[in-house]
Amino acid sequence: MATMYYDDDADLSLIQQRTVAVLGYGSQGHAHALSLRDSGVDVRVGLAEGSQSRARAQAEGLRVVTPAEACAEADVIMMLVPDHVQRHVYAEAVEPHLSAGKALFFSHGFNIRFGYITPPADVDVCMVAPKGPGHLVRREYVDGRGVPVLVAVEQDATGHAKALALSYASAIGGLRAGGIETTFTEETETDLFGEQAVLCGGMSQLVQYGFETLTEAGYQPEVAYFECLHELKLIVDLMYEGGIAKQRWSVSDTAEYGDYVSGPRVIDERVKDNMRSVLEDVRNGAFARRFIEDQDAGAPEFTALREKGAAHPIEATGKELRGMMAWVKGHEADSDYVEG
Ligand code: NAD
Ligand code: MG
Ligand code: MG
Ligand code: MG
Ligand code: MG
Repeated sequence: MATMYYDDDADLSLIQQRTVAVLGYGSQGHAHALSLRDSGVDVRVGLAEGSQSRARAQAEGLRVVTPAEACAEADVIMMLVPDHVQRHVYAEAVEPHLSAGKALFFSHGFNIRFGYITPPADVDVCMVAPKGPGHLVRREYVDGRGVPVLVAVEQDATGHAKALALSYASAIGGLRAGGIETTFTEETETDLFGEQAVLCGGMSQLVQYGFETLTEAGYQPEVAYFECLHELKLIVDLMYEGGIAKQRWSVSDTAEYGDYVSGPRVIDERVKDNMRSVLEDVRNGAFARRFIEDQDAGAPEFTALREKGAAHPIEATGKELRGMMAWVKGHEADSDYVEG
Protein backbone atom coordinates (compact mmCIF):
# COMPACT_ATOMS: atom_id res chain seq x y z
CA MET A 1 0.00 0.00 0.00
CA ALA A 2 1.11 3.54 -0.78
CA THR A 3 2.14 5.92 1.99
CA MET A 4 -0.45 8.72 2.34
CA TYR A 5 -0.05 12.19 3.81
CA TYR A 6 -2.68 14.66 5.00
CA ASP A 7 -2.61 18.22 6.34
CA ASP A 8 -1.79 16.91 9.84
CA ASP A 9 1.46 15.48 8.46
CA ALA A 10 2.59 18.85 7.06
CA ASP A 11 3.90 22.07 8.59
CA LEU A 12 2.46 24.88 6.46
CA SER A 13 4.81 27.40 8.08
CA LEU A 14 7.82 25.87 6.27
CA ILE A 15 6.71 27.11 2.85
CA GLN A 16 5.39 30.34 4.39
CA GLN A 17 8.95 31.06 5.55
CA ARG A 18 10.36 30.58 2.06
CA THR A 19 10.31 32.69 -1.09
CA VAL A 20 8.65 30.91 -3.99
CA ALA A 21 8.95 31.38 -7.77
CA VAL A 22 6.32 29.78 -10.00
CA LEU A 23 7.66 29.59 -13.55
CA GLY A 24 4.80 29.55 -16.06
CA TYR A 25 1.18 30.58 -15.64
CA GLY A 26 -0.73 27.95 -17.60
CA SER A 27 -2.98 25.19 -16.34
CA GLN A 28 -0.90 24.26 -13.29
CA GLY A 29 1.01 27.53 -12.87
CA HIS A 30 -2.03 29.72 -12.24
CA ALA A 31 -3.47 27.23 -9.73
CA HIS A 32 -0.23 26.92 -7.76
CA ALA A 33 0.57 30.64 -7.75
CA LEU A 34 -2.90 31.76 -6.65
CA SER A 35 -3.35 29.09 -3.99
CA LEU A 36 0.17 29.60 -2.58
CA ARG A 37 -0.59 33.30 -2.27
CA ASP A 38 -3.95 32.63 -0.61
CA SER A 39 -2.13 30.31 1.82
CA GLY A 40 0.09 33.18 2.93
CA VAL A 41 3.14 32.30 0.85
CA ASP A 42 5.43 34.94 -0.69
CA VAL A 43 5.09 34.06 -4.37
CA ARG A 44 6.12 35.65 -7.65
CA VAL A 45 5.41 34.40 -11.16
CA GLY A 46 8.26 34.08 -13.67
CA LEU A 47 7.23 34.76 -17.28
CA ALA A 48 9.12 35.95 -20.35
CA GLU A 49 8.68 39.64 -21.27
CA GLY A 50 6.36 38.99 -24.23
CA SER A 51 4.34 36.20 -22.62
CA GLN A 52 0.59 36.33 -23.14
CA SER A 53 0.09 34.90 -19.65
CA ARG A 54 1.53 38.06 -18.05
CA ALA A 55 -1.66 40.11 -18.23
CA ARG A 56 -3.75 37.34 -16.63
CA ALA A 57 -1.34 36.88 -13.73
CA GLN A 58 -1.14 40.64 -13.12
CA ALA A 59 -4.94 40.97 -13.26
CA GLU A 60 -5.06 38.53 -10.33
CA GLY A 61 -2.77 40.81 -8.37
CA LEU A 62 0.28 38.58 -8.65
CA ARG A 63 3.75 40.01 -9.02
CA VAL A 64 5.19 39.04 -12.41
CA VAL A 65 8.91 39.22 -13.20
CA THR A 66 11.14 37.42 -15.70
CA PRO A 67 12.00 33.79 -14.94
CA ALA A 68 15.61 34.80 -14.16
CA GLU A 69 14.51 37.55 -11.75
CA ALA A 70 12.08 35.16 -10.08
CA CYS A 71 14.83 32.57 -9.59
CA ALA A 72 17.26 35.15 -8.25
CA GLU A 73 14.72 36.22 -5.61
CA ALA A 74 13.32 32.83 -4.70
CA ASP A 75 14.68 29.87 -2.76
CA VAL A 76 11.91 27.51 -3.88
CA ILE A 77 11.46 27.32 -7.66
CA MET A 78 8.46 25.47 -9.15
CA MET A 79 8.95 24.57 -12.81
CA LEU A 80 5.56 24.81 -14.56
CA VAL A 81 6.46 25.61 -18.16
CA PRO A 82 5.80 22.91 -20.79
CA ASP A 83 7.96 19.80 -20.35
CA HIS A 84 9.81 20.27 -23.66
CA VAL A 85 10.65 23.88 -22.77
CA GLN A 86 11.86 23.19 -19.22
CA ARG A 87 15.49 22.45 -19.98
CA HIS A 88 15.87 25.73 -21.88
CA VAL A 89 14.30 27.76 -19.05
CA TYR A 90 16.45 25.79 -16.61
CA ALA A 91 19.69 26.63 -18.46
CA GLU A 92 18.84 30.30 -19.00
CA ALA A 93 17.00 31.30 -15.85
CA VAL A 94 17.23 28.66 -13.13
CA GLU A 95 20.72 27.16 -13.10
CA PRO A 96 22.57 30.51 -12.70
CA HIS A 97 20.58 31.19 -9.50
CA LEU A 98 20.38 27.66 -8.07
CA SER A 99 22.67 28.16 -5.09
CA ALA A 100 23.18 25.67 -2.27
CA GLY A 101 20.16 25.02 -0.08
CA LYS A 102 17.56 26.17 -2.60
CA ALA A 103 14.83 23.80 -3.79
CA LEU A 104 13.74 22.94 -7.33
CA PHE A 105 10.17 21.65 -7.65
CA PHE A 106 8.35 19.92 -10.50
CA SER A 107 4.81 18.69 -11.18
CA HIS A 108 6.00 16.01 -13.60
CA GLY A 109 9.28 14.10 -13.51
CA PHE A 110 10.00 14.00 -17.26
CA ASN A 111 13.13 16.17 -17.36
CA ILE A 112 14.70 14.67 -14.25
CA ARG A 113 13.85 11.04 -15.13
CA PHE A 114 15.26 11.29 -18.65
CA GLY A 115 18.28 13.41 -17.69
CA TYR A 116 17.38 16.61 -19.56
CA ILE A 117 17.87 18.56 -16.32
CA THR A 118 20.58 17.64 -13.81
CA PRO A 119 20.43 19.94 -10.78
CA PRO A 120 23.53 20.42 -8.63
CA ALA A 121 23.90 18.04 -5.66
CA ASP A 122 23.46 20.76 -3.04
CA VAL A 123 19.80 21.61 -3.81
CA ASP A 124 16.59 19.80 -2.88
CA VAL A 125 14.67 18.32 -5.83
CA CYS A 126 11.00 17.62 -5.11
CA MET A 127 7.74 16.88 -6.87
CA VAL A 128 4.22 17.98 -6.03
CA ALA A 129 2.02 16.71 -8.84
CA PRO A 130 -1.73 17.28 -8.60
CA LYS A 131 -3.72 14.42 -10.12
CA GLY A 132 -6.04 16.74 -11.97
CA PRO A 133 -6.00 19.68 -14.38
CA GLY A 134 -5.00 23.07 -12.97
CA HIS A 135 -8.45 24.60 -13.23
CA LEU A 136 -9.88 21.84 -11.02
CA VAL A 137 -6.93 22.18 -8.60
CA ARG A 138 -7.72 25.87 -8.17
CA ARG A 139 -11.50 25.44 -7.96
CA GLU A 140 -11.21 22.79 -5.26
CA TYR A 141 -8.80 24.94 -3.24
CA VAL A 142 -11.21 27.89 -3.38
CA ASP A 143 -14.07 25.61 -2.27
CA GLY A 144 -12.06 24.48 0.77
CA ARG A 145 -11.23 21.07 -0.66
CA GLY A 146 -8.34 19.76 -2.74
CA VAL A 147 -7.23 17.45 -5.53
CA PRO A 148 -5.00 14.51 -4.48
CA VAL A 149 -1.30 15.02 -5.20
CA LEU A 150 1.72 12.82 -5.76
CA VAL A 151 4.70 13.80 -3.61
CA ALA A 152 8.27 12.72 -4.32
CA VAL A 153 11.79 13.64 -3.34
CA GLU A 154 14.52 12.99 -5.91
CA GLN A 155 17.32 14.69 -4.02
CA ASP A 156 17.41 15.61 -0.32
CA ALA A 157 20.36 17.97 0.07
CA THR A 158 19.11 19.78 3.15
CA GLY A 159 17.65 16.83 5.04
CA HIS A 160 14.30 18.68 5.00
CA ALA A 161 13.19 18.12 1.40
CA LYS A 162 10.21 15.92 2.20
CA ALA A 163 8.91 18.26 4.88
CA LEU A 164 9.19 21.15 2.41
CA ALA A 165 7.38 19.19 -0.31
CA LEU A 166 4.55 18.31 2.08
CA SER A 167 4.31 21.96 3.16
CA TYR A 168 4.00 23.05 -0.49
CA ALA A 169 1.44 20.32 -1.18
CA SER A 170 -0.59 21.52 1.80
CA ALA A 171 -0.46 25.14 0.60
CA ILE A 172 -2.12 24.28 -2.73
CA GLY A 173 -4.83 22.24 -0.97
CA GLY A 174 -3.49 18.84 -2.03
CA LEU A 175 -3.22 17.39 1.48
CA ARG A 176 -6.87 18.19 2.23
CA ALA A 177 -7.57 15.34 -0.22
CA GLY A 178 -4.35 13.42 0.41
CA GLY A 179 -0.80 13.09 -0.84
CA ILE A 180 0.56 9.80 -2.15
CA GLU A 181 4.28 9.19 -1.82
CA THR A 182 5.98 8.17 -5.05
CA THR A 183 9.28 8.60 -6.91
CA PHE A 184 10.17 10.68 -9.96
CA THR A 185 10.69 7.42 -11.86
CA GLU A 186 7.33 5.90 -10.93
CA GLU A 187 5.39 9.13 -11.57
CA THR A 188 7.03 9.76 -14.94
CA GLU A 189 6.79 6.24 -16.32
CA THR A 190 3.20 5.63 -15.18
CA ASP A 191 2.04 9.08 -16.32
CA LEU A 192 3.47 8.62 -19.83
CA PHE A 193 2.21 5.04 -20.09
CA GLY A 194 -1.28 5.93 -18.89
CA GLU A 195 -1.74 8.84 -21.28
CA GLN A 196 -0.29 6.91 -24.25
CA ALA A 197 -1.80 3.46 -23.79
CA VAL A 198 -5.15 4.23 -22.19
CA LEU A 199 -6.30 7.80 -21.57
CA CYS A 200 -5.29 9.72 -24.68
CA GLY A 201 -3.72 7.37 -27.22
CA GLY A 202 -5.70 4.22 -26.57
CA MET A 203 -9.03 6.00 -26.14
CA SER A 204 -8.68 8.25 -29.21
CA GLN A 205 -7.77 5.28 -31.41
CA LEU A 206 -10.59 3.14 -30.00
CA VAL A 207 -13.16 5.88 -30.68
CA GLN A 208 -11.86 6.52 -34.22
CA TYR A 209 -11.87 2.81 -35.10
CA GLY A 210 -15.41 2.44 -33.77
CA PHE A 211 -16.60 5.46 -35.78
CA GLU A 212 -14.79 4.23 -38.92
CA THR A 213 -16.19 0.70 -38.60
CA LEU A 214 -19.77 2.00 -38.46
CA THR A 215 -19.48 4.67 -41.17
CA GLU A 216 -17.58 2.34 -43.55
CA ALA A 217 -20.43 -0.14 -43.10
CA GLY A 218 -22.84 2.54 -44.31
CA TYR A 219 -24.27 3.89 -41.06
CA GLN A 220 -24.79 7.66 -40.71
CA PRO A 221 -21.82 9.52 -39.18
CA GLU A 222 -24.11 11.48 -36.84
CA VAL A 223 -25.46 8.28 -35.34
CA ALA A 224 -21.98 6.72 -35.20
CA TYR A 225 -20.70 9.82 -33.36
CA PHE A 226 -23.29 9.43 -30.60
CA GLU A 227 -22.62 5.73 -30.15
CA CYS A 228 -18.80 5.84 -30.25
CA LEU A 229 -17.85 9.23 -28.79
CA HIS A 230 -20.64 11.24 -27.18
CA GLU A 231 -21.89 8.51 -24.86
CA LEU A 232 -18.37 7.82 -23.66
CA LYS A 233 -18.78 10.57 -21.08
CA LEU A 234 -21.70 8.81 -19.40
CA ILE A 235 -19.66 5.61 -19.21
CA VAL A 236 -16.52 7.31 -17.92
CA ASP A 237 -18.51 9.26 -15.31
CA LEU A 238 -19.88 5.98 -13.95
CA MET A 239 -16.39 4.42 -13.86
CA TYR A 240 -15.08 7.56 -12.13
CA GLU A 241 -17.81 7.35 -9.49
CA GLY A 242 -17.82 3.63 -8.83
CA GLY A 243 -15.31 1.81 -10.96
CA ILE A 244 -16.02 -0.56 -13.84
CA ALA A 245 -18.46 -2.35 -11.53
CA LYS A 246 -20.79 0.67 -11.25
CA GLN A 247 -20.70 1.19 -15.01
CA ARG A 248 -21.76 -2.43 -15.56
CA TRP A 249 -24.45 -2.14 -12.91
CA SER A 250 -25.91 0.97 -14.53
CA VAL A 251 -26.05 -0.15 -18.16
CA SER A 252 -28.67 -2.61 -19.46
CA ASP A 253 -28.09 -6.33 -19.08
CA THR A 254 -27.77 -6.43 -22.87
CA ALA A 255 -24.91 -3.93 -22.77
CA GLU A 256 -23.29 -5.66 -19.80
CA TYR A 257 -23.38 -9.08 -21.53
CA GLY A 258 -21.99 -7.53 -24.72
CA ASP A 259 -19.20 -5.99 -22.66
CA TYR A 260 -18.19 -9.44 -21.35
CA VAL A 261 -18.31 -11.32 -24.64
CA SER A 262 -17.06 -8.67 -27.08
CA GLY A 263 -14.70 -6.50 -25.02
CA PRO A 264 -11.95 -9.17 -24.97
CA ARG A 265 -12.50 -9.81 -28.72
CA VAL A 266 -11.81 -6.15 -29.55
CA ILE A 267 -9.06 -5.56 -26.99
CA ASP A 268 -7.33 -8.94 -27.06
CA GLU A 269 -4.01 -10.23 -25.68
CA ARG A 270 -2.14 -8.64 -28.62
CA VAL A 271 -3.20 -5.23 -27.36
CA LYS A 272 -1.58 -6.02 -24.03
CA ASP A 273 1.61 -7.01 -25.86
CA ASN A 274 1.48 -3.66 -27.67
CA MET A 275 1.02 -1.92 -24.32
CA ARG A 276 4.11 -3.69 -22.97
CA SER A 277 6.18 -2.42 -25.87
CA VAL A 278 4.84 1.13 -25.35
CA LEU A 279 5.89 0.82 -21.69
CA GLU A 280 9.31 -0.40 -22.79
CA ASP A 281 9.78 2.67 -25.02
CA VAL A 282 8.78 4.89 -22.12
CA ARG A 283 11.25 3.19 -19.78
CA ASN A 284 14.21 3.01 -22.16
CA GLY A 285 13.82 6.70 -23.05
CA ALA A 286 12.99 6.10 -26.73
CA PHE A 287 9.68 7.99 -26.49
CA ALA A 288 11.28 10.91 -24.63
CA ARG A 289 14.10 11.13 -27.19
CA ARG A 290 11.69 11.07 -30.15
CA PHE A 291 9.50 13.79 -28.57
CA ILE A 292 12.39 16.10 -27.65
CA GLU A 293 14.28 15.63 -30.95
CA ASP A 294 11.11 16.48 -32.87
CA GLN A 295 10.47 19.54 -30.66
CA ASP A 296 14.04 20.71 -31.14
CA ALA A 297 13.61 20.43 -34.93
CA GLY A 298 10.54 22.68 -34.81
CA ALA A 299 8.06 19.84 -34.18
CA PRO A 300 7.50 18.67 -37.79
CA GLU A 301 6.21 15.22 -36.76
CA PHE A 302 4.04 16.62 -33.96
CA THR A 303 2.51 19.24 -36.28
CA ALA A 304 1.80 16.72 -39.05
CA LEU A 305 0.16 14.28 -36.60
CA ARG A 306 -1.92 17.06 -35.05
CA GLU A 307 -3.16 18.13 -38.51
CA LYS A 308 -3.95 14.55 -39.50
CA GLY A 309 -5.94 14.03 -36.30
CA ALA A 310 -7.88 17.27 -36.75
CA ALA A 311 -8.82 16.25 -40.31
CA HIS A 312 -10.47 12.97 -39.24
CA PRO A 313 -14.16 13.00 -40.30
CA ILE A 314 -15.29 12.45 -36.70
CA GLU A 315 -14.26 16.03 -35.88
CA ALA A 316 -16.47 17.67 -38.50
CA THR A 317 -19.41 15.49 -37.48
CA GLY A 318 -18.85 16.31 -33.84
CA LYS A 319 -18.59 20.05 -34.42
CA GLU A 320 -21.95 20.05 -36.16
CA LEU A 321 -23.65 17.92 -33.52
CA ARG A 322 -22.28 19.83 -30.54
CA GLY A 323 -24.02 22.89 -31.99
CA MET A 324 -27.26 21.11 -30.99
CA MET A 325 -26.10 20.70 -27.37
CA ALA A 326 -26.57 23.96 -25.51
CA TRP A 327 -25.16 22.48 -22.29
CA VAL A 328 -21.83 21.36 -23.73
CA LYS A 329 -20.25 24.79 -24.22
CA GLY A 330 -20.58 25.79 -20.57
CA HIS A 331 -18.05 23.19 -19.47
CA GLU A 332 -15.35 25.02 -21.37
CA ALA A 333 -16.03 28.40 -19.76
CA ASP A 334 -12.84 28.35 -17.67
CA SER A 335 -10.51 27.00 -20.36
CA ASP A 336 -8.68 28.76 -23.16
CA TYR A 337 -9.62 26.06 -25.67
CA VAL A 338 -10.85 27.40 -29.02
CA GLU A 339 -12.56 24.94 -31.33
CA GLY A 340 -10.77 24.72 -34.72
P1 NAD B 1 0.70 24.95 -19.86
O1 NAD B 1 1.06 24.65 -21.26
O2 NAD B 1 -0.73 25.05 -19.47
O3 NAD B 1 1.37 26.33 -19.42
C1 NAD B 1 2.71 26.61 -19.64
C2 NAD B 1 3.07 28.00 -19.17
O4 NAD B 1 4.46 28.21 -19.41
C3 NAD B 1 2.34 29.15 -19.88
O5 NAD B 1 2.03 30.14 -18.94
C4 NAD B 1 3.38 29.65 -20.86
O6 NAD B 1 3.19 31.03 -21.14
C5 NAD B 1 4.64 29.44 -20.07
N1 NAD B 1 5.85 29.34 -20.89
C6 NAD B 1 6.00 28.71 -22.08
N2 NAD B 1 7.27 28.86 -22.52
C7 NAD B 1 7.91 29.58 -21.58
C8 NAD B 1 9.24 30.09 -21.46
N3 NAD B 1 10.15 29.85 -22.40
N4 NAD B 1 9.56 30.80 -20.34
C9 NAD B 1 8.65 31.03 -19.37
N5 NAD B 1 7.37 30.60 -19.44
C10 NAD B 1 7.02 29.89 -20.53
O7 NAD B 1 1.49 23.89 -18.95
P2 NAD B 1 0.86 22.87 -17.86
O8 NAD B 1 -0.07 21.92 -18.56
O9 NAD B 1 0.41 23.63 -16.67
O10 NAD B 1 2.16 22.01 -17.52
C11 NAD B 1 3.15 22.48 -16.63
C12 NAD B 1 3.77 21.29 -15.91
O11 NAD B 1 2.76 20.67 -15.10
C13 NAD B 1 4.28 20.20 -16.84
O12 NAD B 1 5.43 19.63 -16.25
C14 NAD B 1 3.14 19.20 -16.86
O13 NAD B 1 3.57 17.87 -17.18
C15 NAD B 1 2.68 19.29 -15.42
N6 NAD B 1 1.31 18.85 -15.16
C16 NAD B 1 0.28 19.36 -15.87
C17 NAD B 1 -1.01 18.98 -15.57
C18 NAD B 1 -2.20 19.58 -16.29
O14 NAD B 1 -3.30 19.33 -15.88
N7 NAD B 1 -2.04 20.40 -17.33
C19 NAD B 1 -1.26 18.04 -14.54
C20 NAD B 1 -0.18 17.55 -13.80
C21 NAD B 1 1.11 17.97 -14.12
MG1 MG C 1 -1.07 12.71 -16.35
MG1 MG D 1 1.27 13.71 -18.52
MG1 MG E 1 -26.22 2.98 -27.41
MG1 MG F 1 -27.03 -3.40 -15.39
